[in-house]
Amino acid sequence: MPENETTAPSLENLLHETRAFPPSPAFAAQANAQPELYEAAEADRLEFWAQQARELVTWSTPFTQTLDWSGAPVAKWFADGKLNAAYNAVDRHVEAGLGDRVALHFEGEPGDTRTVTYADLQQEVSRAANALTSLGVEKGDRVVIYLPMLVESVVAMLACARIGAPHSVVFGGFSADALRSRIADAEAKLVVTADGGYRRGAPSALKPAVDEAIAPKDGEPATTVEHVLVVRRTGQDVAWTEGRDVWWHEALEAADTFHEPVAVDAEHPLFILYTSGTTGKPKGILHTTGGYLTQAAYTHKNVFDLKAETDVYWCTADIGWVTGHTYVVYGPLTNGATQVLYEGTPDTPHRGRWWELVEKYKVSILYTAPTAIRTCMKWGEDIPAGFDLSSLRVLGSVGEPINPEAWMWYRRVIGGDTAPIVDTWWQTETGAIMISPLPGVTATKPGSAQVALPGIVADVVDDEAHSVPDGGGGYLVLSEPWPAMLRGIWGDLQRFKDTYWSRFEGLYFAGDGAKKDEDGDIWLLGRVDDVMNVSGHRLSTTEIESALVSHDIVAEAAVVGANDETTGQAVVAFVILRGEHADRGATPEGAAQVQEELRAHVAKEIGPIAKPRRILVVAELPKTRSGKIMRRLLRDVAENRTVGDATTLADSSVMDLIAAGLSSAK
Ligand code: ATP
Ligand code: MG
Repeated sequence: MPENETTAPSLENLLHETRAFPPSPAFAAQANAQPELYEAAEADRLEFWAQQARELVTWSTPFTQTLDWSGAPVAKWFADGKLNAAYNAVDRHVEAGLGDRVALHFEGEPGDTRTVTYADLQQEVSRAANALTSLGVEKGDRVVIYLPMLVESVVAMLACARIGAPHSVVFGGFSADALRSRIADAEAKLVVTADGGYRRGAPSALKPAVDEAIAPKDGEPATTVEHVLVVRRTGQDVAWTEGRDVWWHEALEAADTFHEPVAVDAEHPLFILYTSGTTGKPKGILHTTGGYLTQAAYTHKNVFDLKAETDVYWCTADIGWVTGHTYVVYGPLTNGATQVLYEGTPDTPHRGRWWELVEKYKVSILYTAPTAIRTCMKWGEDIPAGFDLSSLRVLGSVGEPINPEAWMWYRRVIGGDTAPIVDTWWQTETGAIMISPLPGVTATKPGSAQVALPGIVADVVDDEAHSVPDGGGGYLVLSEPWPAMLRGIWGDLQRFKDTYWSRFEGLYFAGDGAKKDEDGDIWLLGRVDDVMNVSGHRLSTTEIESALVSHDIVAEAAVVGANDETTGQAVVAFVILRGEHADRGATPEGAAQVQEELRAHVAKEIGPIAKPRRILVVAELPKTRSGKIMRRLLRDVAENRTVGDATTLADSSVMDLIAAGLSSAK
């Protein structure tokens, strides 16, 4: 018996999901990615990536080396090549005669629209690059972008890339303090912002946060910012600092429409992006140009089966997240896609807004997050049923494990039971998708990201770094360097090594729990930090949450382990009920009944060990601005502690509501 079978497994395998959905023959026949892609990558992984880099990206100086891993864990990919990311995303399509193709169908929240072709984009990005240059921004200088979802946001990112100035996008919903710390960490020279943006039907100011963030404060000096470039979006009043603040439209009007893109080394920094902050203090993740762009384009083309001539693609992520970087800006534009860019929230002015946009623009590829799908489940399926969604042919999911029942709902209600779903696992750190089905090849399974993409090597290992057998659970690791991998944490090489490379020798530690099913497919099981230890069993949050969501009355669930004298930890669950059942949690008797029903359901689905000790019906769950559940805050509540750092929370009042509900339920 191998040594590791004598000890408890790193993570229990609780839920057994057996449904599978092979691609239709028609879809499989037309798909970009065919089974041979796996074979090619396996035959010669580095040559495979070199080929992708040559085919999907245009180089001003071709590379001759593929990977230099001698400085591990800092990789160099295609290091002697030179290129420009904005040229790849824009100019080369215009040069190829595709200038009239729509790049962006912009839809503002109030209903204003703007159609931007690749030729338009080339002019705007060139002007913006000239404007940045005239404001003193040079190659290597950092630019912070603090904007809503606007055409200008995409233009600003590409303008930075065009002059070789790494951008750091900070989500427009973050506070002045969060912005200040990111500006300071990146030592930014310029900030691009707007007077405001539209959120939930009203203009919401942005510039005051910038003014506050860059001013001197309690002994801290002013930041390194020299200029603030301000997009006029809402027309609301703004305070103005002469000499420092410049209107975007004035600067662009004054700038030339011609700009020669600056060819940079493949390893030149493209951007810094601070992680979502689900588990703790955000890290400034550094990405460089050549490898990142290659993997962005490769994954976007193959995972979403993009046909640039005919598809209309829509990724609902904000540009403040890595998904917005790779799958709104760099991936789709490098591939010459036509996409929808939407400024606002899904429920303004009504809860069918997204589906109305799908119908209006005939969106064929939709990429969104489980949180959005579960919210739509909560609102009820009659809302999407009111729109024609028949244009959709590929659906994507990212950000959290998707519960099997949410996956089934997405497939049936949004995808008309035909569109393949790609559940894509990746991180800010990985830069691009790593584990995902290929829509024309893989028989998809609800709730599983399944297989490493061709060219990627992933595994699930136990505490001693041994690969777990099929059916076993443990830690997700990446065993080989990949082109879009982070090149470090900005200004903190040691933290980079400690966080990702010290847990297992020579393996990248992702921080996520995972298991392999009997076919060897990978299932993500949530954060390692959230794993519970109940009577010596290590239980992941995801499977218990999925069991809860598989009950008809539950739309969303979050599970945490709370200290318990007898069992070490006890499972505590927080659930949101579906619209038509929402009232059942309102009375103490109703809540008690719901608790008993759900406890019994989990015991039946998984087993008594996973049965929650307590189940609380709540109206909302604490989520990051990117929609991920922050379980550590719920753990604080469940253990009667003061709630920890909640600065990356979307709505901080949620925690007060939950705490109040908890004490009244005692
Ligand atoms: P921080 O690292 O600061 O705590 P974060 O991990 O939330 O923040 P991101 O890089 O935005 O920041 O998120 C990556 C994480 O999201 C992954 O490590 C994983 O936990 C989760 N995730 C993303 N996609 C999936 C997916 N398809 N299935 C399961 N989990 C996913
Ligand atoms: Mg993370």
